Amino acid sequence: MSPSSSKDAPPPLPEPLRVAVADSHTHLDMQSGTVEEGLAKAASVGVTTVVQVGCDVKGSRWAAETAAAHANVHAAVALHPNEAPRIVHGDPDHWSRQGPRAGGGEAALDEALAEIEALAALDHVKAVGETGLDHFRTGPEGMAAQERSFRAHIEIAKRQGKALVIHDRDAHADVLRVLREEGAPERTVFHCYSGDADMARECAAAGYYMSFAGTVTFKNAAPLREALAVAPLELVLVETDAPYLTPAPYRGRPNAPYLIPLTVRAMAAVRGIDEDAMATALAANTARAFGY
Ligand SMILES: [Zn+2]
Ligand SMILES: [Zn+2]
Repeated sequence: MSPSSSKDAPPPLPEPLRVAVADSHTHLDMQSGTVEEGLAKAASVGVTTVVQVGCDVKGSRWAAETAAAHANVHAAVALHPNEAPRIVHGDPDHWSRQGPRAGGGEAALDEALAEIEALAALDHVKAVGETGLDHFRTGPEGMAAQERSFRAHIEIAKRQGKALVIHDRDAHADVLRVLREEGAPERTVFHCYSGDADMARECAAAGYYMSFAGTVTFKNAAPLREALAVAPLELVLVETDAPYLTPAPYRGRPNAPYLIPLTVRAMAAVRGIDEDAMATALAANTARAFGY
């Protein structure tokens, strides 16, 4: 096998968890193989439930359909924070993926939001997200559209009584500000939590869930581990965000829900508790956060 093909190869199956957990945030539609294969592989190591997250109207429809077809898949629906500005600004790449309608402007965003709300009303859709702010990929020209979309998603989550899933990239203070201004829904999850210990204390005070991804296993992620160490155990979740953020020692290779045990073990070590206690808390927390 050449070095490049081994680098692209899926990591081996980890040792199974004894207590089953959920992957609180994944993108099965961006992973190789069928949904059934991915779910079976995950279940074989104790990852028996997944939350499938949509990032645009088409992906959100797919998430809802996939959740309807599989009892152990729950859906989250939204326009990703980097997607909202593309809709408003009529990005041709967005419209080529979404269909023939040439679009743009605030009306196009409203139309897309109305579709998200219709999906959010469905029974097997448990959350609105991922929404939030991304100051890393979206430049100043897209920020107004991004924030408007974030506020609209918060409203949808509250109207529909669903959890809110936050994407926060390099935007901690602004995300917390918008949540304060709008009033957060009863159940709010920071996906791929990336704040430090101080922010974890702030999230804890507000009752926000913090979902840790493979990044918590990275060598350079000491501040993230400090955040995990101070977060109340009952507010901690685990996720892959697959196909991204593959945990150590497989960083850079394709991620999938079956790799959750690696992250759970790293989290248990940070908390100084055993793996079963960690998994038991994660399973209960995810069910409570998403209301399934
Ligand atoms: Zn995200
Ligand atoms: Zn994601």
